Amino acid sequence: MKAIKGNVSGEKVAGERILRTPAELAEAGFVAPARLAALQQVAARYAVAVTPALAALIEAGDADDPMARQFVPDARELDARPEENVDPIGDDRFSPVEGVVHRYPDRVLLKLINACAVYCRFCFRRERVGPGKGALSAHALRAALDYIGSTPQIWEVILTGGDPLLLSARRLAAVLNALCDIPHVKVLRVHTRLPVAAPDRVTAMLVRALGAPIRKGKASFVVLHANHPRELAPAVRAACARVINAGIPMLSQTVLLRGVNDDVETLSALMRALVECRIKPYYLHHADLAPGTAHFRTTIAEGQALMRTLHGRVSGLCQPSYVLDIPGGYGKSPIGPSYLSADASAVEDFNGRMHAYPPRHAPACGQR
Ligand SMILES: *Cc1c(COP(=O)(O)O)cnc(C)c1O
Ligand code: SF4
Repeated sequence: MKAIKGNVSGEKVAGERILRTPAELAEAGFVAPARLAALQQVAARYAVAVTPALAALIEAGDADDPMARQFVPDARELDARPEENVDPIGDDRFSPVEGVVHRYPDRVLLKLINACAVYCRFCFRRERVGPGKGALSAHALRAALDYIGSTPQIWEVILTGGDPLLLSARRLAAVLNALCDIPHVKVLRVHTRLPVAAPDRVTAMLVRALGAPIRKGKASFVVLHANHPRELAPAVRAACARVINAGIPMLSQTVLLRGVNDDVETLSALMRALVECRIKPYYLHHADLAPGTAHFRTTIAEGQALMRTLHGRVSGLCQPSYVLDIPGGYGKSPIGPSYLSADASAVEDFNGRMHAYPPRHAPACGQR
């Protein structure tokens, strides 16, 4: 398929339109007419886009369908809670120049674009992303590159947004090449949802751009955002295979979401499907305190219980790290369950039994 230029409303993918309004969603059968007025209020506040690839996965007429929950607006999004924050993970406090977030010493985020192919209803940057929110200007990009170039402790640059793969292949390659020309930058990482939202847009040209660092002797990684096994449709798997076959390893990040993937069957099916695609599960994010997303959040205790059930039940390759981005900009910390007793004198096995460590009585010969 031809690459699609820009990301403005009315574009066509595979002859079908991206659904961008509650009325269009109602026409497609994803929204009951009675909900339309409330959802128009939601859409006035938060961007909406459902690509044809994702629309094909949504069960029409079922607002509780895990795909509908992720992408079709819901009136509960207007219900902001006091603990929620427009900058839930504190990006602003750590932004030395426009488009750069420098929280950890050795790595930065570079936000090139604020648009996405699909707008997730639980997005942690929902106050910042949208089709009209624009890309980093040429001037701002130069300032960002200057900052990275003059900060020798920056070892890795993470392109995020928005979705950096909405940039044209030519622009993406230009940015990656400019970053690779900085001697202390050794690793380039791209965070994206595009292979899930619009697999046909993962063109040979785009894959070639993602491989630009490799040709300059640097490492290139792609991290896919995927939350439900149904998202890994055949075309999505093929798109990821194109990336991986080009020598670019892929990892995944998943957001733990109530009613989407907060049960062990769904979560283990997702992690297995990712590993079957040669994508290593990296993070399971506890849902951030973004405005109007309370209906998506589980408790941390629920998340830990799920992680416990994954441990031992599915391959070690299928185990992500369960992390929380600490509000205020303090970074991510692993919050997975611990299998070690508080005084480090005993360890729990995957069946829930405790074992002293080191063992108090060595097992007698022949007993094991
Ligand atoms: C999440 C994040 C990163 C990446 O963290 P890793 O643990 O290396 O995946 C880097 N910088 C910022 C500001 C982040 O929020
Ligand atoms: S793809 Fe990422 S940045 Fe874009 S709406 Fe979804 S969660 Fe937000």
